[in-house]
Amino acid sequence: MLMKRYLAANWKMFKTAEQAHKTAKDIITNIQAKLQTNDEVIIFPPFTALGSVFKVIQNISQIQLGGQNFYPAEQGAFTGEISPDMLIDAGCTYSIIGHSERRHTFQESNDFVAQKVHMGLEKNLAIILCIGETLDQRQNGLLEKTLNSQLDSVLNNLSPSDIKNRLLIAYEPVWAIGTGKVAQKEDIREAHSLIRSILKKFLEQKSDIIPILYGGSVKSENSSEILSLDNVNGVLVGGASLDAQTFSDIIINSK
Ligand code: PEP
Repeated sequence: MLMKRYLAANWKMFKTAEQAHKTAKDIITNIQAKLQTNDEVIIFPPFTALGSVFKVIQNISQIQLGGQNFYPAEQGAFTGEISPDMLIDAGCTYSIIGHSERRHTFQESNDFVAQKVHMGLEKNLAIILCIGETLDQRQNGLLEKTLNSQLDSVLNNLSPSDIKNRLLIAYEPVWAIGTGKVAQKEDIREAHSLIRSILKKFLEQKSDIIPILYGGSVKSENSSEILSLDNVNGVLVGGASLDAQTFSDIIINSK
């Protein structure tokens, strides 16, 4: 079976509901007739814009909606948080979990990230689990150890059947996020193949069907090359996805 090609837009804490609605509409106008049959586009607006984006994408099967995060509880006294069911109610089929901004700005531990992944999968959300090393870890030769511990905490208590074809990994080197520094081809190849071999250790055959996306300063100028690399099954785009034309170019121009 042909693996899908995933093109994900993380809008972080940008855009009002109206702005998000317009950007999503413009993206659809640009790409709809040009999507490849195996393309899956996922838009992650801020929570307050989920409803307005859902209105424009709801009847397009190749475009899905996702939340940028959730709290791993059904409901309760968790002021400021959002539950997986609330995301699903707003039309989401995906959630990002463990983004480096959550891990580093909000001190989310590997264990907390793992709790969220498990709950999201139980709820049938597709989860894009972000992992990646800091510059310090890379320079100290800790790439493999870091990726291994980030994956270990999630996969340790997960059986292949729990995954239900709904776990995706995004390799996002922290030093390449929002910095304009893109990882070199060789770095991406090395990290993605390391991730594939760690997945194999935990999940055996099932590991082959887990898509691995790259994220970190992806732009229309470098997306084609990145998407053509072995073991790169898609891209997670932050800054460059805020502009409808730029994100559309990433989708249309990289074949
Ligand atoms: C991201 O937010 O996941 C990301 C990769 O950001 P950027 O593309 O801006 O580096």
